[in-house]
Amino acid sequence: MADYGEKIMIEFFEMASVIVVGGGVAGMMAAVTAARSGADVILFEKNEKLGRKLRITGKGRCNVTNDCDKNEFLSNVATNQKFLFAAISRFSTADTKDFFEECGVPLKTERGKRVFPVSDKAQDIVSAMENACIEAGVRIINKKVEGLIIEDKKVLGVIAGGENYGSNSVIVCTGGASYPKTGSSGDGYRFAKRAGHTVTEIRPSLVPLVAKGKLCARLQGLSLKNIGFKVKDTENGKVVYEDFGEMMFTHFGLTGPVVLSASAHLSDIESGKYVACIDMKPALDHKMLDARILSDFSGAINKDFINSLDALLPQKMIDIVVGLSGIDARKKVNSITKEEREGLVNLIKNIEIQLIGFRSIDEAIITKGGIAVNEVSPKTMESKLVSGLYFAGEVLDLDAYTGGFNLQIAFSTATLAGENAAWSSFE
Ligand SMILES: Cc1cc2nc3c(=O)[nH]c(=O)nc-3n(C[C@H](O)[C@H](O)[C@H](O)COP(=O)(O)OP(=O)(O)OC[C@H]3O[C@@H](n4cnc5c(N)ncnc54)[C@H](O)[C@@H]3O)c2cc1C
Repeated sequence: MADYGEKIMIEFFEMASVIVVGGGVAGMMAAVTAARSGADVILFEKNEKLGRKLRITGKGRCNVTNDCDKNEFLSNVATNQKFLFAAISRFSTADTKDFFEECGVPLKTERGKRVFPVSDKAQDIVSAMENACIEAGVRIINKKVEGLIIEDKKVLGVIAGGENYGSNSVIVCTGGASYPKTGSSGDGYRFAKRAGHTVTEIRPSLVPLVAKGKLCARLQGLSLKNIGFKVKDTENGKVVYEDFGEMMFTHFGLTGPVVLSASAHLSDIESGKYVACIDMKPALDHKMLDARILSDFSGAINKDFINSLDALLPQKMIDIVVGLSGIDARKKVNSITKEEREGLVNLIKNIEIQLIGFRSIDEAIITKGGIAVNEVSPKTMESKLVSGLYFAGEVLDLDAYTGGFNLQIAFSTATLAGENAAWSSFE
C-alpha cells in the first residue's frame, strides 16, 4: 500500500474500471468475467506468460474440475468449506465444463469424476483462457505489481513498474506460496497484510511426507500400484486417512497420489504421532493371503525363505520384509511355523512407517492458510476492510483435496469477484 499520509494528488499512468493482479487461473477467470460484464479490464502478470502453474497441473494434463454436484464439491474442501457456498452456487463444476467446451476445448471424465481436456494437454486450457481474455478485450500487462494504492479504506489502484495505475476495483489473484518458481511467491499476502487483513499461517498441503529411519531410502524409486494406504494417529488410534492407489518411496519418505491426498488430513506431523500403514495386498483378506503364501511355499519347499517371495512382492521389498518378519532368511520354507506365517501375513498387510514431517512448501501442490475469509464477503469476494478490494483463488485461506477441486475454487471465487468488481465499478 502506498503510504499517502498527507493527501496529495495521485497521478495515474493509466486507468481501468477493473484491475486484476496475477494472470494465473483465478486472475484470467476474474478478468474474463469482469470484461464480459462490460468492464474495461487491465490484467497484470509478472511472468512473461500467463498461467505458468496451470500449465503443469495434473502432470501436464490439467484436472480442470470434478464432475460432481455442489455438496460433493463442498465435502472435498478441506478448509473453510462454508465460505464457498455462494461461489460454487454461482459458478458450479458444470459451469466450468461449459466454459471450456464453449471455448472449444472438449473435455472427458475419468476415474473419481476427474475432468481433463480430451487432448490431455494443460496447455489447451491455458490457451483457451488466454484467448478468452483477449477476445473479451482484457489489456494484459506483463509487469509485477509492487503494491496497492489505498486511501481512506478505499482502493484507488496499484503500483507496477514504478507507475500508478488507477481503478476503484482491484482483484488480487496472486496465488499461494507453493511452487514459487511459477510466480506464486506470496505477494498477495503482503498486499493484504498492508491493507489491514489477517493472513493465517501458511503451510504446505498435498505434499510429500518425510518418514523416520532409513527404510524409505532403501526402497527409493520403488513405485507401488493398487496398495491400501492408511494413516493412523497413534495418540488416539484413529484412522485419519484411508485409500487405495499408487505411491512411491523416495530418499526422504513417501510421495505419490495417495500420499499427497493423505497430507491434507494431517496436522502437527512433526510430533511423530502419525504412522503410515501400507497394505501390499488389499484385495486379499488375512485368510486368503495366508492361503496364497502357503501355495507359494508348497511350490518351493526346499527353498530358503528369502527366495520364496518373488511372486508375492516386488524384488526391492523382499529383503526388507524378510528382515521385518523376524524369520531367518535362510530358513527352509517347509519349516516355517503357522505363527511365523501369521506374522508374515500381518506384516504384508500392514507395513508401518512413522511420519515426521511435510516436505517444503516449494514442493506442495497447494497452500494451506492465506487471507482470513472472515474478513472477505463470501457473496462478492470483496474485502470487508477496504472497499473496492477483492480477492480470489489460492491467496485466500481455502484448500481442497485432489480431484480438480482446487482449480474449481479458483474458477468459482474468481467469477464472483470478477462480476462484482465490474458491477461496483459502474456505480
Ligand atoms: C504441480 C501442481 C499440479 C497441480 N494440479 C492440479 C490439478 O490437476 N487440479 C487442480 O484442481 N489443482 C491443481 N493444482 C493446484 C492449482 O494449480 C492451484 O490451485 C491454482 O493454480 C490456483 O490458482 P491461482 O490463480 O489462485 O494462483 P496461480 O495459478 O498460482 O496464479 C497466480 C499468478 O499471479 C502471478 N503473480 C503473483 N504475484 C504477482 C505480482 N506481484 N504481480 C503480478 N503478478 C503476480 C503469478 O505469477 C501467477 O501467474 C496443482 C498445483 C501444482 C503446483
